[in-house]
Amino acid sequence: MRRVEIAVVGGGASGLMAALTAAEEQKRQHRPVSVLVLEAAQKPGRKLLATGNGRCNLTNMHDERSRFHGDVLAAEAVLGKYPPQAVVRRFLSLGLLCREEEEGRVYPNSGQAASVLSILLEHLQALGVEILCERPVSQLSQEGAGFRLCSSQGEEVLAQKVILAASGQAAPQLGSNGSGYALAKALGHSCTPCFPALVPVICGEEKRCKALHGVRCRGRVSLLGDGKLLGEESGEIQFTDYGISGVCVFQLSRMASEWAKTKTVNGIRFTSLQFSLDLLPNHSPEELLGMLQRRKRLLPKSDNMALLSGFLPVVLARQIAKEVLGKLVPLEVLSTYDIEKTLLCTKSYTFTVKATQGWDRAQVTAGGVPLSETCPQTLESSRCPGLYLCGEVLNLDGDCGGYNLQWAWASGMAAGKAAASACKPQKPAKSSKPRRKPHAANR
Ligand SMILES: Cc1cc2nc3c(=O)[nH]c(=O)nc-3n(C[C@H](O)[C@H](O)[C@H](O)COP(=O)(O)OP(=O)(O)OC[C@H]3O[C@@H](n4cnc5c(N)ncnc54)[C@H](O)[C@@H]3O)c2cc1C
Repeated sequence: MRRVEIAVVGGGASGLMAALTAAEEQKRQHRPVSVLVLEAAQKPGRKLLATGNGRCNLTNMHDERSRFHGDVLAAEAVLGKYPPQAVVRRFLSLGLLCREEEEGRVYPNSGQAASVLSILLEHLQALGVEILCERPVSQLSQEGAGFRLCSSQGEEVLAQKVILAASGQAAPQLGSNGSGYALAKALGHSCTPCFPALVPVICGEEKRCKALHGVRCRGRVSLLGDGKLLGEESGEIQFTDYGISGVCVFQLSRMASEWAKTKTVNGIRFTSLQFSLDLLPNHSPEELLGMLQRRKRLLPKSDNMALLSGFLPVVLARQIAKEVLGKLVPLEVLSTYDIEKTLLCTKSYTFTVKATQGWDRAQVTAGGVPLSETCPQTLESSRCPGLYLCGEVLNLDGDCGGYNLQWAWASGMAAGKAAASACKPQKPAKSSKPRRKPHAANR
């Protein structure tokens, strides 16, 4: 049976950062590095490689608390101690150049998520941190002053401290399936209801969705609960054969997901939820009306289905004209009322929320272990001292734009440093052989 000071459950973003920070702290204290990462998948950091479409949007310089959801107040100590600047400095100190792009989004200068993962793995290896892959931890229990961890393969590890970084339920195909919640619950924790966030939305207008499948445009998206504005975002909208997607829809999907599960948003009950799309947000209805009347004057024999073809992608323009005007007639027979009705549709094209796509299409989990069950500075469990939690397993999630990885790094640093600082140096076993330098990500 292996004995280590610190066992990290999960070799994803937060777990790798926690392991690295813990090992650095042990080294700083002139103690032997004794950190073991147990990872369920064949390789560590699979989700990290998929982030930002393979580019890894690793943080966001717009350090706004409104971009986080869940136990935001309880996370303040960690988010405040490790702001985006500290994360960028941390990666720079590891040798990773970063660059800021639009809306404060930060990416590795290489443009490749693989650079972020490999820099973490190289440093972990250099410090002697071992990563055991294909070791899904299935049991975690207290044993004396420490913990016993059992993997599904029957491997057992004794650790003084455990850092639980097993994530939530989002994107199970990339490793995390919610087993972290069961491990936390076995040690006395609770878990809030969880639902998928940053996820495409399924809408009720089935025929329209099929017709628009594959169309993309820019616009402003408002989410309405029984007609009341709940949130608004601008950016690219993607139409799919089941509904709508794209970053601005993702940002509002958390509320749609909550509603689909509970018929409430932030605890308030709504009978129906709708997305209202302004497809021409930079132009006033008066300006657009003038342009369309001019079009009618100049092109009287032109097809009314092409009324909006100078404004919107052709498929979308024709779909709206078809929905509003019905039959094919020349422009000259259209009344001002018809033109106004068509314009109104471009300013408020509504989609009824039916559901959201499932966990496999979600980028993050909304919900998790309440942060109130941890120490705000160290993320040590108040239910089970010696256990630390970080990353998505906790009840904190962020918007698109680097906020989720920001939380993974910040919470990983907090938990890793605190766990290492709290360890008592182990007495070397009498018969122990000299340690060989282990390889990161070995099996
Ligand atoms: C497609 C996609 C794109 C994304 N893009 C971005 C982005 O650009 N920017 C951003 O900020 N966020 C992004 N996110 C979200 C971000 O990746 C996550 O919030 C973040 O990785 C969470 O870190 P974590 O360490 O908690 O979990 P993970 O990175 O998921 O790591 C958890 C690890 O634990 C392992 N594990 C799970 N259970 C066990 C167990 N029982 N025993 C052992 N190991 C276990 C898993 O295999 C996994 O490797 C994206 C997510 C997805 C799915």
